[in-house]
Amino acid sequence: MTNVPLLDLKAQFAQIRAEVMPVIDQVCAGQHFILGEHVRALEEEIARYCSASLAVGVSSGTDALLLALMALEIGAGDEVITSPFTFFATAGTIARVGARPVFCDIDPLSYNLSPAAVQAFIDNHCAVQSERLINRATGGRIRALMPVHLYGQSADMDPLMAIARRYGLKVIEDAAQAIGTEYQNGARVGAIGDIGCFSFFPSKNLGAFGDAGLCTTNDPALAESMRVLRVHGGKPKYFHAVIGGNFRIDELQAAVLRVKLRYLDGWTQRRQHNAAYYDTAFANAGLGASLGTPSIPARQRHIFNQYVVRVQNRDALRERLTEHHIGTEIYYPMPLHLQKCFAYLNYRAGDFPHSERAAEEVLALPIYPELEPAQLAHVVATVAEFYG
Ligand SMILES: *Cc1c(COP(=O)(O)O)cnc(C)c1O
Repeated sequence: MTNVPLLDLKAQFAQIRAEVMPVIDQVCAGQHFILGEHVRALEEEIARYCSASLAVGVSSGTDALLLALMALEIGAGDEVITSPFTFFATAGTIARVGARPVFCDIDPLSYNLSPAAVQAFIDNHCAVQSERLINRATGGRIRALMPVHLYGQSADMDPLMAIARRYGLKVIEDAAQAIGTEYQNGARVGAIGDIGCFSFFPSKNLGAFGDAGLCTTNDPALAESMRVLRVHGGKPKYFHAVIGGNFRIDELQAAVLRVKLRYLDGWTQRRQHNAAYYDTAFANAGLGASLGTPSIPARQRHIFNQYVVRVQNRDALRERLTEHHIGTEIYYPMPLHLQKCFAYLNYRAGDFPHSERAAEEVLALPIYPELEPAQLAHVVATVAEFYG
């Protein structure tokens, strides 16, 4: 019987165990657990990896988003435009700083925030008043765009950056699923907007042994602001001109991540290889309109944190795959504008048809680097049999 879990982190750990355990042992021997040498080195290494000039290690991807919003002084009376088809934290953090999440629909091919939808929202619902972009319905000030690079594929950044420049908006990239993702001509995500937010949650391509995250920026003043806010806003220690929080990354996590970073490109290559296998095998299976594979524009680098297909009869297919011991997941089954906690935003079903349709049709298949050829073949055969 072929078992194909959605993700198998034990296989990865077996590969790196001999390198990781001594590093953990060293950190324990030193008993320096907070903001030490590994954190500083990790920040340098990830900044370089993402072609950003600076990086600030934090406690999670969620806290990276929160810290970015705080550093840009986004709060009550402010609004941030983002995608409704994403992990909860994207909009959750906007609401947590007291700002209002404003949703615009996605592009149905990339599943990412549609620049045309953002422009249409601005044209139809906003006004420029003394150089500020105001949401006419709420009176709130639009301060930023927060595109998400969903599944490891870049959002369409050129037109989004153009919109941001035209209206004086900041850009926070939710790059939680997208370390090493490239937009066009090698431009790495996280270094395109003002701040890039990464997650090292264990299921991300670069996963820690627990929670961790990081912010990238090319702006030294923003980096400094994030460093201060990361330690409760204390500068010097115990003197607070601003209110921050405890957003620190652990030294132990930084040490583990530095080892894993050396493997990241190899793992990403395996993910891309597996994705190419699925693309070809599904095309050869002649599934027609029953299954759509990911669509990647030329000159982009997709890192395949997830390999997501769009399928007919999704829930029945998922059941069949479960019966055949194949792990799948739905990222995400309910768009954020329909979540109960956001009812106060007054959105309705039908407001974002591309996001709502994606929520009903997407299915993530196993794509992790250590998958064996027999496992990949089992997934394809089971899917083909279902539609055949
Ligand atoms: C994982 C993720 C986050 C949150 O990261 P955590 O490290 O789990 O807090 C935010 N946004 C997106 C799109 C994510 O996938």
